[in-house]
Amino acid sequence: MRATRAIIHLENLQSNIREIRKLIGSDTKICIPVKADGYGHGALKIAVGAIQAGAAYLAVASVQEGIDLREAGIITPILSLSLPIPEEIDQIVQYGLTPLVADADFIAELGAAARAAGKIVPVHIKIDTGMGRIGCEPDEAPSIARRVLHEKGLVIEGTATHLAVSDSDDPDDIAYTKAQIAEFTSAVAAMRADGIDPGILHAASSGAILRYPEAHFDMVRPGIIAYGYPPSADYDGIIPLKPLMELETQIVYIKKIERGTSVSYGRTWVSDRDTYIATLPIGYADGLSRRLSPGLTVRSEGKTYPVVGRICMDQCMIDIGPEPTARKWDKVTIFGPDPEGPSAATLADRLGTISYEVTCAVNKRVPRVYVGDEPRARVFR
Ligand SMILES: *Cc1c(COP(=O)(O)O)cnc(C)c1O
Repeated sequence: MRATRAIIHLENLQSNIREIRKLIGSDTKICIPVKADGYGHGALKIAVGAIQAGAAYLAVASVQEGIDLREAGIITPILSLSLPIPEEIDQIVQYGLTPLVADADFIAELGAAARAAGKIVPVHIKIDTGMGRIGCEPDEAPSIARRVLHEKGLVIEGTATHLAVSDSDDPDDIAYTKAQIAEFTSAVAAMRADGIDPGILHAASSGAILRYPEAHFDMVRPGIIAYGYPPSADYDGIIPLKPLMELETQIVYIKKIERGTSVSYGRTWVSDRDTYIATLPIGYADGLSRRLSPGLTVRSEGKTYPVVGRICMDQCMIDIGPEPTARKWDKVTIFGPDPEGPSAATLADRLGTISYEVTCAVNKRVPRVYVGDEPRARVFR
């Protein structure tokens, strides 16, 4: 295995889901989004860990992500959060995925595919209460639901919406979120008034799970908090979160340089002293953004070292000082769960982005190494 790898601490997934469970109580179901290869952590391992921790549902973004989980043997219900193109519709039926539906055309095509396959497909009605992405208008919800009921092959299993600013404590954002929750509640009431059972109600992703108990409804969809990061900088420690991912590498080369020597492309860094430079086999192609240099520091054996010069595609260099204690092959941590060092959220902050993007950016060529899984999980392998 190469030196650069992402250690995934599955015991932290258990801990985070336990904390979510404490917050939402025992009656609310948990749906863990494992889209984008489990936010970069590996969808299958996260799915197994989530099921072990009591998740009733998983969620994916693309039909193919759902197929991959089914082919690996996952039988837990899988919500498909994005809308498919026509050629994916048969696969939804064939692989037993649970799609969100928001328009009559899709409902008709899915109904036809279900009928042709002799299957009953559960669907969740998606209502757009202000995210502006997918979903029917709130006042269309009863008619969309009737379209589903009209299809012999479909059943309404749930009704959902998605909140746009539930992670913010800005007063306008709080008002907006409350209005979204109220829109959802009244659309559901209109469905019920029409004699339609809306099924499992769900609206809350991480932000609303922490801030809006009234948005928990029957199921919550915690993504980023399950992976151990706050949904935004406005987070104030409502539940303890433990990051799962630790990105580490090893020193593969050490050389002495003289004062005045430049390091890396563009010669943006020139040493002002005689010192030792260590090379790490990790670069922007591994997900370590080039925009992190200058300024990034890494940790090894309890010491902190600056990355010097530009981060290359596959390598970067650190200044280990004139009297280095660091040795070739020493382990170096880029980010991880250790509260003493940076996490993916720290890097995200530096980059002006969110931790979601940092963990998703860790490239496929970085092996994921899983630690801390529950013994029972081994039966799934
Ligand atoms: C990704 C996603 C989530 C999870 O969001 P987090 O902010 O990671 O908790 C929940 N619901 C939907 C519809 C999503 O697309």
